Amino acid sequence: MLDTCRRASGRPFVHQIIESVLSVSVVARCRITPAAKMHAEDMGFLRRAMNASRQNSFSETMTGLVRAFSGHFRTVRAFHGCRPASFEPYLTHGLLPLSRELLSQHAYSLFAGKISRDEADVLVAKADLSTRLGVIHFGTDPRAQISEYGHYLIDGPESLCRVFDGARFSERRERRRQLGVPTMIDCAVPLELISPERQANLARHVITAFFSEQSDIPDEDSWDNDCSVILESPLSPKNILGHFHPAEIYDAHGDGAPYRSPVTKCRWCAEWPSG
Ligand SMILES: [Zn+2]
Repeated sequence: MLDTCRRASGRPFVHQIIESVLSVSVVARCRITPAAKMHAEDMGFLRRAMNASRQNSFSETMTGLVRAFSGHFRTVRAFHGCRPASFEPYLTHGLLPLSRELLSQHAYSLFAGKISRDEADVLVAKADLSTRLGVIHFGTDPRAQISEYGHYLIDGPESLCRVFDGARFSERRERRRQLGVPTMIDCAVPLELISPERQANLARHVITAFFSEQSDIPDEDSWDNDCSVILESPLSPKNILGHFHPAEIYDAHGDGAPYRSPVTKCRWCAEWPSG
């Protein structure tokens, strides 16, 4: 399993594929690049190192690196931040991509007695869910979700904001904050379920982390272990490793003060702890 927060465990393999795919001169040129100038999005540091070594096969090289990477790791450890009323549905159904049907059920039960099911369906049908529908979002570093963008943990799914974006916006937040417990679900996401483009994104992230560690001019602060993972299919309960409930969460609406969760244990904590 690839775990971007435990870099040492994957380092021997990354070292091996880099040595098998890249020439000695390219690796040496990468090492003299300051770590602060290495960016996984475009891998410009590798492209420049290859150009300087008169090697013009950047895209073929990247294809080789990604193929070796995907052939080695079967799963990636990734965390889904949420605020569920119960952990039990995850153990029964796993994690499901967002659908308008699921969201309408959620919207209806959240405003129980105040809106009809038909009204919930209409609100959900006209909500802009373009970046949310049909996917499940994960991040590989739980600390990033807790300390940088904790709103999923505090206020529940962002998709609900799209449904109640008018007069009920504040009421939706208040009702959602009364419901459930901030939860990080610890998962082993199979790489075969992740699109090739997103597998390449993960590979670029890991390879850039490796070179930033090896740089002659390191910069630990510039590197973020967190990498976004997006799944377009359900995740089976057998891929759930555990869960935990953070006590303090970054709150964008808290005027600098963190959100303090009143509940940090649930009845499933002992049975399904995060390792
Ligand atoms: Zn729990």
